[in-house]
Amino acid sequence: MIPFTYARAADASHALQLAGPLVAKYLGGGTNLVDLMRETIEQPEALVDVTGLSAAIKYHEGGLLIGAAANNTAVAEHRVVREAYPVLARAILSGASAQVRNMATVGGNLLQRTRCAYFYDPDGSRCNKRSPGEGCDAIDGFNRMHAILGASPTCIATHPSDMCVALAALDAVVHVQGQAGERTIPLTDLHRLPADRPDLDTMLEPGELITALALPPLSTGARSTYRKVRDRASYAFALVSVGAVLAMEDGIIKDVRIALGGVAHKPWRAGIAEAALRGREATRENFRAAAEAELREARPLHDNGFKIPLAIRTITATLGELTGEAA
Ligand code: SF4
Repeated sequence: MIPFTYARAADASHALQLAGPLVAKYLGGGTNLVDLMRETIEQPEALVDVTGLSAAIKYHEGGLLIGAAANNTAVAEHRVVREAYPVLARAILSGASAQVRNMATVGGNLLQRTRCAYFYDPDGSRCNKRSPGEGCDAIDGFNRMHAILGASPTCIATHPSDMCVALAALDAVVHVQGQAGERTIPLTDLHRLPADRPDLDTMLEPGELITALALPPLSTGARSTYRKVRDRASYAFALVSVGAVLAMEDGIIKDVRIALGGVAHKPWRAGIAEAALRGREATRENFRAAAEAELREARPLHDNGFKIPLAIRTITATLGELTGEAA
């Protein structure tokens, strides 16, 4: 056992004060962090329990503001989330199990770490994310679950969260508080590609605490959904997933936002596909052509080439579901 201190914060300022200059971790539901500590992958000097921070879900600037301590079940079951942001409700409900969703907080979900099996094997595998400069055993290993977009020679891990894929499609905004004050970060800028620092998952500064998540309003008539392809029907991470928001006028796409999960080190916003679809007719042919354009940059590994056609088919089917176009 590696010793650490534990303290429960009354509010965000108190949490920052408790963390101070220590190597601290903020504890929400602990559904990932506790596993990482058991495996000695995370070794904080201090655990600051932030489950007492705001868990409120309230109206905010035409959308919603969700406290970071809200649990995943509460968000997925919230009436406004189900009615106005079904992509988010479906994404959350497609992840983990009911028991885990009851424990896991929004803040913790945003910060969960990759499930690369080599990352979780500190005694037997080399991993640049765990130990920078050590090497990556996944590159020449079994990499069926790994990235096809945005990977680097140092790390090919994928981001595990379903919720974050939906949030990327919704242009959600993350509220954070640190020693330098409060700031907001677009969700699409929160997580990093690995480049030469795979040990860093996010753009948060040391000690910064996520306090809330803002969902902006969607354009009039927008529809949204989430589709996840996985090896078994529950409690499995995505091979490929798609979160999509789409608004049409007279059969023409006026707003489309697509994010992919299971393909990159961060939720992958499919900007190439979106640009190819805006102002175009909502047809299956256009959906497929846009998906193919997005996946042209994909670089398959030894075991995961199947993800490229799978992603193309899943994007096409998801947009088809939103428009009634048979996929
Ligand atoms: Fe580590 Fe990334 Fe390689 Fe997995 S893919 S072993 S997380 S460096």
